[in-house]
Formats: sequence, structure tokens, C-alpha cells
Amino acid sequence: MLRQRSGRRRVWAVALIAVTGVIAAPAVTVAQATPEQVRIQARHLEDGRFEVALQQNTGDDQWGERLLPEHRFVPAQARAGRWLVSSPVTVGTEPGVQELRVAARRHTDGRVEVALQQQRTDGTRGDRILPALRFVPAGTASGRWLASSPLAEPEPPAEPEPPAGTGNGPPREIDRDLPLGLITPTGIPVAVIGRAGSGYLVRTPCGNTAQIAGGDPIGEVRVVLDPGHGGRFEVGAVGPNGLAEDVLNLTLSRAILAELARRDIPAATTRTADYGSLLSVRSAFADALGADALISIHHNAPTSRLGDSPGTEVYVQSTDDETPRAASERLGGLLYEEITAALATFEGISWSRLANAGVLRVLFPEGGDAYGMIRRPEIPAVLVEYGYLSNPSEAELFATDEYISVAAVATADAIEAYLGTDRPGTGFVERPRRFDPARAPSRCEEIRLE
Ligand SMILES: [Zn+2]
Repeated sequence: MLRQRSGRRRVWAVALIAVTGVIAAPAVTVAQATPEQVRIQARHLEDGRFEVALQQNTGDDQWGERLLPEHRFVPAQARAGRWLVSSPVTVGTEPGVQELRVAARRHTDGRVEVALQQQRTDGTRGDRILPALRFVPAGTASGRWLASSPLAEPEPPAEPEPPAGTGNGPPREIDRDLPLGLITPTGIPVAVIGRAGSGYLVRTPCGNTAQIAGGDPIGEVRVVLDPGHGGRFEVGAVGPNGLAEDVLNLTLSRAILAELARRDIPAATTRTADYGSLLSVRSAFADALGADALISIHHNAPTSRLGDSPGTEVYVQSTDDETPRAASERLGGLLYEEITAALATFEGISWSRLANAGVLRVLFPEGGDAYGMIRRPEIPAVLVEYGYLSNPSEAELFATDEYISVAAVATADAIEAYLGTDRPGTGFVERPRRFDPARAPSRCEEIRLE
């Protein structure tokens, strides 16, 4: 059921997607397409993947160029019934400019269903909007673009309502003076969603909204560091010496932040103390700040074969299941190069290392980037496993100040090279690893913001 901007209801029978130029199943009459309408384009590809795009109506029933999202391929092995979503494309004209995504899912009978999804200003996604004609039949000739029925361009998302009784209702205009992020009075970095009276509406670490009176605005940043895990429900790995991964990640990210400040590279972190924060909040925070890169900081487990070279691994983003995302891969290669060279200067360590350690992509068995901090961010992102905290020899090293400063300098060197040179990086592993990581615990305890 769809509501046109004019408010007139329109009822469609579910039927098959037709070739471009909209030929509907005999039973369905297709309305005259009007401006302010969009439709989804889709096609099967030779290799079994499925490609989606968006098209805007340009008036007189003409359709504009296909708008191709950066991430737009549904993998051949995508699990049936699971919705995947493209990266956003910008549609509409001022002041109605907005970001839309295409959602798609495979059905067990081989058909593929498509839908439209809005991107809200706070980075979260709106409900899926289903066109009447939205199924691509199995066996359609590959390479042939088909078009869904037109959809009225949804109203640009309204600013979220501030909590009840907290000031004067939704902000009227997009507020250019609104900081993108804040450090709250208790030192917690948060993304700003809107104004609330004289204060701010922010996204809390556990994904809720809260109103706060004030805080220190986070200015322009080039890099966001993400100390992995955090809080009593998500400690991460624990070393044989009792060193907890969430504490180690935080200590290292603080040292990297200090090193970047010494080099005048503005940076922020997703977590500044030992508390829980959802992956969706961390990645939305980095996206909201519009940083050049996000680096998630981790230390690995369980221990693998021991040897004399560090088992550092850097996971990078995919454009699709065959293709690494260039910016993410280069950042990964530089981090790998600098960190392994720096760690190799420590003598007498028996390092744990997997056979295919290096710079690689980790995909779900059915395709798609497996780690949330790789899959979710729009900005280039990597996840670094510096070494194995589960390995006694390495855990002992990680507990030293020397390790922290050596690893921090190496990381800052790589970031500086990523931002300021065209060095390609090294350590790339061609074949992606297939893995279905354990889901992060859902319990998240909010920390005080004021
Ligand atoms: Zn970890």
C-alpha cells in the first residue's frame, strides 16, 4: 500500500518486475509516471550476482540516468529471505534532497525482491517501501535491466521528535551550526541528532536518544579510532596474565590519539572509558563526523601456530564479494606494513600466526562483509588485530608501556602515510576468508552523559 505525496491512495497487485519501459503483467494497469517519482532498476548478472540501481522521473514520463550506488551487488549466495541494502544515493532537489537506498532479498524460488529504503539524518534507516511490481523472476536473461513500478518519492525524513516535554518540538530548519558530535560533560563522545531547547539531542552509546544541556563540540576530524569491545558485558579476549582486551584496546587507542595530536592530525574515538557501545552507534558516529577513515582496534584470540613473525591481521571492506574497497584496502596495507615492522623489533617473542594472516577480507559464508565494523561504516574502515592476547608471550608484551608506544607510533605512521602519500601498503591476501562471527551480546548498559 503506497501513499502518493498528493495523499491519494494507490493499490497495486503484487506481480513480476517487467523490462525497462514498464510492461506489467496483463492484470496490472500501470499509472502514468509523474515527476517526484523514483523506481528501482535491477538485473541478474552472468556470475549469479544481482545488481540494483535507482532512477528518477524527469517529467513527461521520462526516466533519468540510472543512479548506481557504490555498494549495489547482491552476492550470488546471499541467504534467501535476508534483506541486504545498497549504499545510499542522493535524489530529489533542494530542499527535498535526500538519501535513498535499494534493499533486496533473494527468495528460495530464485526470485529477487526489491524495495526502497530511506536514510535518516541520524544515519539510521527508515522502513522499507515496497513497490507493487517488485519481484524479478528467476531465469530472467542476465544483463537485462528491469524496472519496478514507480514509487512516489517519500517525504524527506522529519527531524526526530525530542523526548516529550523537553522544549519546543522538532527543529524547523537544518541547523548548520549544530555540531556533528560532542564530548559530554562526563567525557563521552556522542553524535548529535538535533537541538533540544538550549541543549542537544544525542545518540547514546547504547543507541537511544537523550537530551543533554551541553558539551564540547567535536570539530573536523580526519580519523576515528574505535577501541573494540567495552563494558562489563563485552570484555573481549582475556590474556593468561588477566589483561582484558577492552582495556588494552582503550589504552592503545588513547596512545594513538595522543600521537596523532602531536602530528596535528585531528582525530576522535568512539569510546573513552570502559563502557559498552553498539557497533551501529560506533559506525554511525564515525560517518556523522565525516572522517576520512575509521580504524577499529582489537587483539586476537585463540592462539594459533607459534613462529617468529607477528600474526597481525587487518580486515578491510568489500565493494562486492570479488572486490576489496580500494581506500580501505590501502589503509589496511599501510597499517599492516608499519605495525608488523614495528612489532618485529621486539626480540624473544614467539608470535601466534595463521597461515593466511595479512590484509584480507572476511565474508559471511553466503557473502557480504562479516564484521559489523567493516560492513556498516560508509566511510573507509578497517579492523586491526594487532596480535594474540591469548598467547602468553604476546600477552606479557602487550602489558608493557613499550608495546603501547611502539604500536601507537607505527599506527600513526600508517595513518600519516594514508592521508599524505600514495604509498600502496603491503601484505595483501587475495582469497577472502569465509566466517560467520558470533553475534555481539545485545546487553548494553548506558553510561552517564552528564
Ligand atoms: Zn576484539
